[in-house]
Amino acid sequence: MSAAVFDDPEPSVTVRAPAKINLQLGVGAPRADGFHPLATIYQAVALYDDVTVTQSEDWSVRLVEPVDGVPLGEDNIAIRAGRALVAHHGSDLAAEIVIAKGIPVAGGMAGGSADAAATLVALDRLWELETPDDEMLAIAADLGSDVPFALVGGTATGLGRGEVVAPVPDATECWWLAVFSHDGLATPAVYRHFDELSPDADAEPRLSAELLAALADGDVGAVGARMDNDLWAPARALRPDLAETERMLRGTAAAGVLLSGSGPTMLALFDNGFSARGAMAALQERGVDCAIATGPVAGAHVVTYG
Ligand code: ATP
Repeated sequence: MSAAVFDDPEPSVTVRAPAKINLQLGVGAPRADGFHPLATIYQAVALYDDVTVTQSEDWSVRLVEPVDGVPLGEDNIAIRAGRALVAHHGSDLAAEIVIAKGIPVAGGMAGGSADAAATLVALDRLWELETPDDEMLAIAADLGSDVPFALVGGTATGLGRGEVVAPVPDATECWWLAVFSHDGLATPAVYRHFDELSPDADAEPRLSAELLAALADGDVGAVGARMDNDLWAPARALRPDLAETERMLRGTAAAGVLLSGSGPTMLALFDNGFSARGAMAALQERGVDCAIATGPVAGAHVVTYG
């Protein structure tokens, strides 16, 4: 037998990172730096990307299954994350990054941000860098507004441009029915249209105290009634078909219906799995592409190591 059979494979680490939804997405007038100030309440939900990293001569990224719209070169946010981490440590290591995507691309569920967070956690473990939490969060914030939350997970408020995250009590068990759309919606286009529709937007949007109380109380019905997304009007104007999805979801037993982030994924909230599954079956019979995701769930975490 050849010696190669007994060679240890290169060590690798797989990290799972969740999609996010914004239970509240309060958007303000653009700041001097062009970013919109946000007052958001994130919840991590059980749709996941898995990211596996293995040390390599050069940086590369590939997908387990090809998915349209995901760049495979230096533009992939996972490579940007890897490069940012090694730059932070003054090292010149590199890795192969393999992504199994379960989060819809350009769906307003921050799949790219999940991949960035997963890559940071995976490489930190692979190379035993032990980067302190505050430094990980700072690197994440430089990569994108939603990346820090993908590290933290659970339920958290997001201020600034969404990158200043603070966990909040959430006693709910939310059952989300997510309705996917085959055509993505570009986040910058939705924000541009928001500016056109809301020339008098506040400079500092405020978090909803009522929604935070409903979460702390574990009151899914009140969460459904209070959740809100300022990007709903511009997204619906750009994609009139979303109004039909909303109408369909409002015809279910949902406690509330919401656009996910900048869309076009739409969400219906249920307080139990039985109702959520019933609504999913009814929609699937009509050919609608949808899935159930529970929340809140943990942020980016190691699932295999070795
Ligand atoms: P957000 O709401 O954070 O803008 P989204 O959930 O609408 O994001 P993503 O799936 O994060 O959308 O992708 C946004 C864009 O980022 C894609 O259209 C793609 O061009 C680019 N991108 C770069 N890296 C990735 C990645 N690893 N996965 C998905 N998209 C990526």
